[in-house]
Amino acid sequence: SERRDVEIRSDRVETADGKEIEVAANVGTLAELEGAVAQGADAIGLFRTEFLFLDREAPPDEDEQVDTYVEALDAFPEGRVVVRTLDVGGDKPIPYIEADEEDNPFLGMRGIRRSLGPDAELFETQIRALLRAGAVGDGDLAVMFPLVATVGEVEQALDVVEDVAGDLESEGVDYAMPELGVMIETPAAVFVGDALAERLDFFSIGTNDLAQYVMAASRQNEHVADLHDPSDPAVLRAIDRAVEAAHDGDIWIGMCGEMAGDPDLTELLIGLGLDELSMSAVTIPDVKANVVDVSTADARTLAETALRAATKDEVRAALSEDT
Ligand code: PEP
Ligand code: MG
Repeated sequence: SERRDVEIRSDRVETADGKEIEVAANVGTLAELEGAVAQGADAIGLFRTEFLFLDREAPPDEDEQVDTYVEALDAFPEGRVVVRTLDVGGDKPIPYIEADEEDNPFLGMRGIRRSLGPDAELFETQIRALLRAGAVGDGDLAVMFPLVATVGEVEQALDVVEDVAGDLESEGVDYAMPELGVMIETPAAVFVGDALAERLDFFSIGTNDLAQYVMAASRQNEHVADLHDPSDPAVLRAIDRAVEAAHDGDIWIGMCGEMAGDPDLTELLIGLGLDELSMSAVTIPDVKANVVDVSTADARTLAETALRAATKDEVRAALSEDT
């Protein structure tokens, strides 16, 4: 395929004092893999799988999904590919999935809630395909669950993974167990982060939803766009707490919301302790260029100032003083 002709030019970067920061790409279609490779992504930090299920009459079967995930893994032979399980509901309706009308869809049946409820069959098929793909593709597979709010949800999801692995084992089908993680995108997940970290291999912060739920400001409503801001001190403190929970539990934590791709925030995010930043491929070169100039000690001082800020304006002032 054409994709394989693209020169691999991933140069991993570290801060001026030697902390490696993984700079990864968010991908929402197979076509975007090429751009991710071309822009020098170290990895895929968020592979959204909704595209597989949209614009069709019936869901993709297991084999079709295996092929898709293997293609993503083969595009990053030296890297990790974090595949997010189907994240529908809220703003992402799908024709063949039965969904009740809800007054508050963003507070309703979204993400993992659907996968553990009405979409359980789709979820099991997706997990089977992922475990099979992990045994075939070149890169290292990681799987993450969206919109987690409780430890119980994680335990149920992990049970599904265990059951699927058991089935594949007894059927004699090759599979590999991926790293398993969750998106941190609800305040609830932040507050129980210590318990989540005990059960998982990694976190990835979804700042688009985390800002929405922390600030009670829709990500789609222009009237509250100013409130929906991941640089608000309330959101920064939530991020700080999630990082602390991850690192206290000895797991890695990345960020895959839009915030991660803002080159003006690279130093702040490193200061907050993120191990990985995942973004639209186009912003990767700018973010990598910034990473190498960062001193982690200065970045931590900046983060501490920002975390003490009472207002967004104070956060902005700290950021502009710094440059
Ligand atoms: C997020 O919520 O920040 C995120 C990365 O997921 P999505 O934008 O797909 O909801
Ligand atoms: Mg989200």
